[in-house]
Amino acid sequence: MSDITTPNSTRDTVILGSGCAGLTAAIYAARANLKPLVLEGHEPGGQLSITTLVENFPGWPEGIQGPELIENMKQQAARFGAELKMSHLVSVDLSKHPYELNLGREAVHTRTLIVASGASARWLNLPSEQALIGHGVSSCATCDGFFASGKEIAVIGGGDSAMEEALFLTRFASKVSLINRTENFRASRIMLDRAIAHPNIKFLSSTIVEEVLGVEEKDVKGLRLRNMKSGEQSVLPVSFMFLGIGHIPNAKMFHGQLDLDPDGYILTHGNVFPTRNGEAIPGVFACGDIQDRRYRQAITAAGTGCMAALEAEKFLEAHGR
Ligand code: NAP
Repeated sequence: MSDITTPNSTRDTVILGSGCAGLTAAIYAARANLKPLVLEGHEPGGQLSITTLVENFPGWPEGIQGPELIENMKQQAARFGAELKMSHLVSVDLSKHPYELNLGREAVHTRTLIVASGASARWLNLPSEQALIGHGVSSCATCDGFFASGKEIAVIGGGDSAMEEALFLTRFASKVSLINRTENFRASRIMLDRAIAHPNIKFLSSTIVEEVLGVEEKDVKGLRLRNMKSGEQSVLPVSFMFLGIGHIPNAKMFHGQLDLDPDGYILTHGNVFPTRNGEAIPGVFACGDIQDRRYRQAITAAGTGCMAALEAEKFLEAHGR
């Protein structure tokens, strides 16, 4: 592994992740002349880049497409001197400051680290589902919706993501079956009501997917379902299954380095300060969905991204930058 930084070229700020939190942190850090390096990660642009219309981000009365919002943020960060790099963190040593980041083929040293690595889509983890990813099983309605044109499809989940996907997919699919494992929906009232009111969305509650059919054909042919109340099994003939069942935090590389909650989200106090065994870690901050399992909105991710950058700036000032 080559070291692209000498002690003299140690960065002031490296930001992990290029979603709403990371890019907001980059805008603030860049305007503070910290010349942040943004590592774009496995899913550049984060969750907004695979969503459709964002209607609740202040300042866009008619809404804005998620990918466009992200692109605007990138341009805004770059305009002030942020450097974006298609790379991700392999491992990190937070025991020695400045911190060494292993990016695979190279190492980067930094005085402050802003963790904004977000969360990735959750899967059912059925063998048949995994075998058919890319062949009719998808976690991204925006990416794959077009391929469902004129077909009967299923969306799994009962939260806002599932409602949003189901509504979006009615643009393409002839019929959408929304499958929720209980009778309770986590979705907000407005999203749930919109989905209920749509004539092409049919709700199947208290129902789980036991198998995705079509593994031999390498093409989804249907779903084998079980009603959790009656125990009854049935087959739903669909050509696509879209997952909308939440996300998993991208914090694996911080196991043992930062305190995480039982589901793997980074624990923070004061909004953006992570800990290790309850102790503060100098110059490390976390923001966005990686540390927020309560609000998880673009605007709250942006808010904590801003806070993380301001704290990084304060830390550097206090340490004689
Ligand atoms: P969520 O609110 O956590 O909902 C996840 C859903 O998936 C729940 O219905 C859950 O069922 C179900 N689920 C989880 N694991 C499952 C499994 N293994 N099998 C079957 N079902 C499973 O996640 P989300 O919908 O992604 O939303 C996350 C956050 O983003 C929320 O705060 C939401 O408001 C926000 N969001 C907002 C918008 C918007 O405003 N436009 C759009 C998308 C997301 P149980 O309830 O039974 O656990």
